[in-house]
Amino acid sequence: PATESKRLRIAMQKSGRLSVDSQALFASCGLKINLREQRLIAHVENMAIDILRVRDDDIPGLIMDGVCDLGIVGENVLEEESLQRKLDNDSADYTILKRLDFGSCRLSIAVPQEESYANSSCLEGKTIATTYPRLLARYLKQQGVNARIVTLKGSVEVAPRAGLADAICDLVSTGATLDANGLKEVEVIYRSKAVLIQRKNLCDDKQLKLINKLMPRINGVMQANESKYIMLHAPRTELEQIIALLPGAENPTILPLAGNDNLVAIHVVSSESLFWETMEQLKALGASSILVLPIEKMMV
Ligand code: ATP
Ligand code: MG
Repeated sequence: PATESKRLRIAMQKSGRLSVDSQALFASCGLKINLREQRLIAHVENMAIDILRVRDDDIPGLIMDGVCDLGIVGENVLEEESLQRKLDNDSADYTILKRLDFGSCRLSIAVPQEESYANSSCLEGKTIATTYPRLLARYLKQQGVNARIVTLKGSVEVAPRAGLADAICDLVSTGATLDANGLKEVEVIYRSKAVLIQRKNLCDDKQLKLINKLMPRINGVMQANESKYIMLHAPRTELEQIIALLPGAENPTILPLAGNDNLVAIHVVSSESLFWETMEQLKALGASSILVLPIEKMMV
């Protein structure tokens, strides 16, 4: 029934750490979405796309069961579901179309701060609480460590204090949550980002064409996010040194300045932003009026 309609179905997290960035990505790709608060399905007005807003845990399954065509989800959730399905002999097929530039985090093991920890063998015989039992089990097996895994869907970080576990294995980005709970990070077992995935056996011609239209836009948005437009004035005598300082600037545009023969304007699309240190070096070489501007879209 889901495949009868030819509209492309994209699953995204309804509310949580990935939803704002996922929505922003779709918007930058030109999708006009009418997201009324409590709706499960949002129709894209200007393309044959429906957006399904669900819990992030459901997204890998929706793709692997072929119920949705595309989805954005954290690799941690995707890999966990994939390992679980392989164990259960369920379908676990999908294709990663793109690793995205948001949702960065790591899955780490943490122990109480006062505990001494040398290496993974210190976990032998311990109880570890986690929301990601399959990823943790894979790591422990690789390390040859026997530990008991307790699966908790939430509040993993309070498990040691509550006497439910000796250690935890949880997602970390800054480490502030661990700190606030008297825990220290001792092993990183998995690094994750948000990914755009596609179901296997997608063969509808119109849908494939739509995906082929979306991908260059996604690439363009991501490239633009990383790039900056840099403008500055430079003394002609220092041109070479100044251009060498600009990151990823193969073919800068050099323009004369009206009424000043000693200076030129340099315009360049840079593959990354300028650090303050580089700007200070440029200034020391005689550059002035240095501007670093964001780029909204890009097609090369
Ligand atoms: P849902 O209600 O959809 O199930 P959730 O509570 O399971 O949401 P979130 O906390 O919103 O999930 O996190 C979604 C994803 O964001 C994570 O699976 C992970 O890939 C990513 N993420 C990035 N940084 C962090 C972080 N510091 N802690 C947890 N997840 C993070
Ligand atoms: Mg979830």
